[in-house]
Parts: sequence; C-alpha cells; structure tokens
Amino acid sequence: MQSSGYPGVGSAVEYAVLHLKVENIMVIGHSCCGGINALMSFPDDGPKQTAFIEDWIKIGQEAKFRVKKLHADLPFDQQVTLCEKEAVNVSLENLLTYPFVREGVLKGTLALQGGYYNFVDGTFDTWSFNDSLTPA
Ligand SMILES: [Zn+2]
Repeated sequence: MQSSGYPGVGSAVEYAVLHLKVENIMVIGHSCCGGINALMSFPDDGPKQTAFIEDWIKIGQEAKFRVKKLHADLPFDQQVTLCEKEAVNVSLENLLTYPFVREGVLKGTLALQGGYYNFVDGTFDTWSFNDSLTPA
C-alpha cells in the first residue's frame, strides 16, 4: 500500500483517524497465505500477467526482499511464514507515510500494532509498532 496510489485506502484511514478518532490500528497477517506464497514463488522481476497482480507485488516486494536477504538459508515454507509477518510491518510502515497517522503516533493518540493469526496452531500474536518511529 502506497499512500499516493491507493486513495480508497487512504480516505478510509483518514476518516477513521481524524473523524472517528480511533486509537489503534492493527494490521493482521495470517498463516498459509496464498497471496504471500505466490509473492515468494514469483521470479524476482515479478509476474507480467496483469496490472492487478503487478500492483499487489509492488506492495509486498519489500517484505519479500527482506526475507530473502536475511533468511536465504531457511526452507521455503519458513521463508513464507516470515514474509507473512514482514508484509504486516511493511504495511504499517506505509501507514506511517500518511501525515495524520504519523502525527497521531508521535502525539501518542494513535497506536500501530501488528498481528499474526496462525490458524493452524490456533495462535494470535501481536506486536507494537510504535517504537519504530523515533520523534524527530
Ligand atoms: Zn492471505
């Protein structure tokens, strides 16, 4: 998700933050994600089939890049699991590119959290993302 290219998402988040004054935003990933599996399976220059898939790949590409770089030694299925979580972090980073999100986090009125639902193990992990933002 890039703030400039996805106005529908941006306006929904803006409305929630500025008007509904939500205090938490949680981005949730999940196990056995077919989308992430496809992302990790594509060649690095990405598929060329459709514009929709290309846009989606651009969003996840950073997560894939990090996992491939840091965990090249792990089996593919473990890389996929790590990418399912890293994609959450990338989405949270993209949320921080919205000025009203960044301002809310800096003021302490808004908290960003990552979540990961593993429906095979029946576990749900969460982590705070606020620490990633150091006040200027
Ligand atoms: Zn999925």
